[in-house]
Amino acid sequence: MEQEPLDAGLQISMSSDDMEDDLQSNHPSSIIEVPIVNGPSMIDDSDEFLSLSTKFFENREDLVSAIRKIGLLQGYVMVITRSRSNRDVAIGCDRGGCYRTCSALEEKKKNSASRRIDCPFKIVGRRTAEGLWKVEISSLLHNHEPSTDMAGHPYCRRFTKEEASQVEQMSRAGIKPRQILSSLRQSNPDLLAVSRNIYSKTSQFRRESLGGRSIIQALLDELGGAGFSHNVKYDHSGHLTHLFFAHPTSIELTKSYSNVFVMDCTYKTNKYKMPLLEIVGVSSFNTSFYSCFVFMQKEEQQDYQWALEMFSKLLGDGNHPLAIIIDRELALMKAIQVVFPMTPNLLCIWHIEKNILAHCKGQFKEDADWVGFMSSWSTLVKSWDVSTFNEVWNRFQIEYKDYASILTYIGNTWLPWKERFVFAWTGQISHFGNNVTSRAEGAHGTLKKYLQVSTGGLREVKENICLAIQNQFQEIRTQLASEKIRVPQKLCIPFFKEVINKVSFYALFELQKQYLLANAKDYSSQCKGQFSKTMGLPCVHMIKEINIEVLPLNQIHEQWRIGTRSFTNDHRASLDHEDPFSSLLSEVKEKYEKQPLAQKENTIRQLSQILGASCPLIFKPTLQPHKGRPVGSNKRKETSSTRREPSYFERVEKAPRKCSGCGNIGHYRNKCPSNNKSTTLGTQ
Ligand SMILES: [Zn+2]
Ligand SMILES: [Zn+2]
Ligand SMILES: [Zn+2]
Repeated sequence: MEQEPLDAGLQISMSSDDMEDDLQSNHPSSIIEVPIVNGPSMIDDSDEFLSLSTKFFENREDLVSAIRKIGLLQGYVMVITRSRSNRDVAIGCDRGGCYRTCSALEEKKKNSASRRIDCPFKIVGRRTAEGLWKVEISSLLHNHEPSTDMAGHPYCRRFTKEEASQVEQMSRAGIKPRQILSSLRQSNPDLLAVSRNIYSKTSQFRRESLGGRSIIQALLDELGGAGFSHNVKYDHSGHLTHLFFAHPTSIELTKSYSNVFVMDCTYKTNKYKMPLLEIVGVSSFNTSFYSCFVFMQKEEQQDYQWALEMFSKLLGDGNHPLAIIIDRELALMKAIQVVFPMTPNLLCIWHIEKNILAHCKGQFKEDADWVGFMSSWSTLVKSWDVSTFNEVWNRFQIEYKDYASILTYIGNTWLPWKERFVFAWTGQISHFGNNVTSRAEGAHGTLKKYLQVSTGGLREVKENICLAIQNQFQEIRTQLASEKIRVPQKLCIPFFKEVINKVSFYALFELQKQYLLANAKDYSSQCKGQFSKTMGLPCVHMIKEINIEVLPLNQIHEQWRIGTRSFTNDHRASLDHEDPFSSLLSEVKEKYEKQPLAQKENTIRQLSQILGASCPLIFKPTLQPHKGRPVGSNKRKETSSTRREPSYFERVEKAPRKCSGCGNIGHYRNKCPSNNKSTTLGTQ
């Protein structure tokens, strides 16, 4: 590993403005190309410097940079060793002075090599009575060879002001240090900085913007300042336990598309190990958007209930979604029942299948039997009506009567929730085609891509979530604008005349399939009303029945309409009019103006009290116990990976041990019983 040469010693005597000057030097990159200098080690490159002594400089900075320039050309790095503003400045070689330990912190670095070897080189700049700056040479001798590769000098790895601000912008945009570096190199091929310099620069920005507040306080201030709706909950000792937040653009989308939501928890997003509940909505284009996020201490009913109550506030009083899709998480199911008693709560059929796989696959010896079992299960799930379901379930029980434990498992774990996943019941619910939670899983993936590493503080997590949200919003906005004016060739038929550019392409193409079926000569099937109920679109039977030439817009659910929707970037304005604060304030003002003097004083006192009330101090969340691997797993170690811990079914699904020697299952090659045989064969 590369060692950072110490910057202790001389710099300590510098005043603070020199420090800044030194941190962000303005070295032009071109002068870093160092000519090879021949000669003895005690060289005298005095000419260039001597020529300076006859010059006058407008200001201190010009003088310092002229000296630095010459120094770099000769292979030396010049540093300010002492400075008194408006009087003088001493400049030495960066190998001047000697290394000395100054604090406990430096003590730790004792083992690292020092660059300093007491080089005597010294030039002083002095301000003349006329206000100009003049060079005074003390010693032009170095006690060492010039460097041929300036990368060894920390000074040369510093960023220029422009580079520093580029680093800041790019790191805010979530770009990785390595990528920032290669981007900087494109405009400055001579850049000597390494990734570590980027890391220290970004952590410097972070420290500066925190300005002494606790990271949680800074996070809350920032959420509020950026127009986020947010709320917190903390325990008796003041530690954060719950944090809800919704981006202003998310709030706008949530209010516009409030019909169907997918909810799921994701893990490993933050160093406090708090689970993150993501609520994901669905747009007219059948794409997903983040509605809101809740960090929770635990995953119990009360945690979910708090989260859902916050979400409910986003939707507005009395509003409830038409459907919520989740995995079988009993605490969340109970919480939904309490907060949204009117909303049907569907279970993800994909996850059910995966759970059944985990519990049952082992009991089938033949693959064909297993495939048969799963197809029977699928038939059961897709039962069109209640009587069909009962019939299929009876047959299922007879067919698998020899698998008592499987029937018990399905009977106890899944059948009590049949209304939440069997088509006979879910076919009556407006879920707009959502019967799996894969939307949330996809969102987890997107989010984790932005999070990069899971050990970030809550604030970094929030910043990256913002980026993800803004990208989603931009995509929805662009699609909305484009589908309002484009007309796909396939849909240029009179039937769609009224709805084109008023309904999303996704819904129109779904409709087109029904339209084509309705016009197929030999199509006949009985209407079960499921397509129109779940999708909010007329089905083939309705199209046949109404037998009209032009489809009226009122046949299409509001979920798919684009004509009346528009999204702006000014989210605050769209939310402000719902905020009772300003109207209350003007009422207070009106009342105040009519009050007699004594009462006015009283009002002022009361208002001042509101302002003076101190906010509660909130501390970092306490570390949550790790949702670890099962005991017995040999990979039980801390990582900073954002990959989700595999669920039970995912572990079961993993390929069994297979020997690369004999090809049999159940052992690896090193334990292969045919080992001895094969080695004796090999030596013959
Ligand atoms: Zn020197
Ligand atoms: Zn699922
Ligand atoms: Zn139908």
